[in-house]
Amino acid sequence: MKAAAFDLAVPEDISDAATLLAGEDRRAMAGGQSLGPMLNLRATRPAWIVPLTGIAALHGAEQTSDAITLGAATTHAALADGRTPDLEGGVLARIAQGIAYRAVRNRGTIGGSLCHADPAADWLTTLTALDAVVLTTTRAVPLEGFVTGAYRTLLVQGEIVRAIRIPKPATGFHWRYHKLCRKPGEFAHAMAACLATTDGIRLAIGAVGGPPLLLTGDHVSLAGAEAVLGFLDPVDRCIQLEAVSRVLPA
Ligand SMILES: Cc1cc2nc3c(=O)[nH]c(=O)nc-3n(C[C@H](O)[C@H](O)[C@H](O)COP(=O)(O)OP(=O)(O)OC[C@H]3O[C@@H](n4cnc5c(N)ncnc54)[C@H](O)[C@@H]3O)c2cc1C
Repeated sequence: MKAAAFDLAVPEDISDAATLLAGEDRRAMAGGQSLGPMLNLRATRPAWIVPLTGIAALHGAEQTSDAITLGAATTHAALADGRTPDLEGGVLARIAQGIAYRAVRNRGTIGGSLCHADPAADWLTTLTALDAVVLTTTRAVPLEGFVTGAYRTLLVQGEIVRAIRIPKPATGFHWRYHKLCRKPGEFAHAMAACLATTDGIRLAIGAVGGPPLLLTGDHVSLAGAEAVLGFLDPVDRCIQLEAVSRVLPA
């Protein structure tokens, strides 16, 4: 099937894009790696598409002593290749390298991935564990509350994600990420990311049908987190949520 007919409205800058997207029946497009298939399946039929990747303000990356801020249009490939600042140990590059395959990584963006809000997306689970903040044209929202359900976010019509701010964990942090899929380049059937610092543990369990299940503070111990990550042993091929709740009672 092919996409239903639509028109392109190419914005000059980010405020122009916000204006163009404010009306009904309009859709932003970043890398098009999720929106493209949805258009072709006619799961969405906007009258206007507003491409974002030509907007300079959505590119680039900044690094300060306590955070990395990535433009929303940063591609998975730029992260995978180490062309952007990274956390100690190359955490972000390793995640990006496991997303799909090169052609998808060349076009797919970190902002598009979060906005699409696929429960099994790598960035959603990873950046939830890392306590990232989504910076939009009007506000700063912790990622933890940004995704409200499968393929649903807090974004309102005309609101654009500008960048993602990722706090740098204190030196000496521990990080684990497990993603299970049946072949390389697939979305995860099960996934979990765990950040352990002197401030505590953040364990995000993804691919659960909505936003990641985030366990912090008293709800998770290092042993508990290891147990959850243990469930993702490739031999098991699949994670059972019932089993997770037995290991980590709320
Ligand atoms: C074959 C294949 C395999 C894949 N495998 C994986 C995988 O293993 N792991 C994984 O995580 N992902 C995977 N993906 C998805 C891929 O990572 C996409 O790039 C990503 O989900 C969407 O990013 P995009 O830039 O292409 O966004 P688009 O497809 O352009 O847009 C997605 C949605 O976000 C909105 N949007 C985009 N940017 C913004 C913005 N800045 N502000 C507001 N709204 C915006 C659009 O309106 C649209 O609703 C795969 C995709 C394909 C085609």
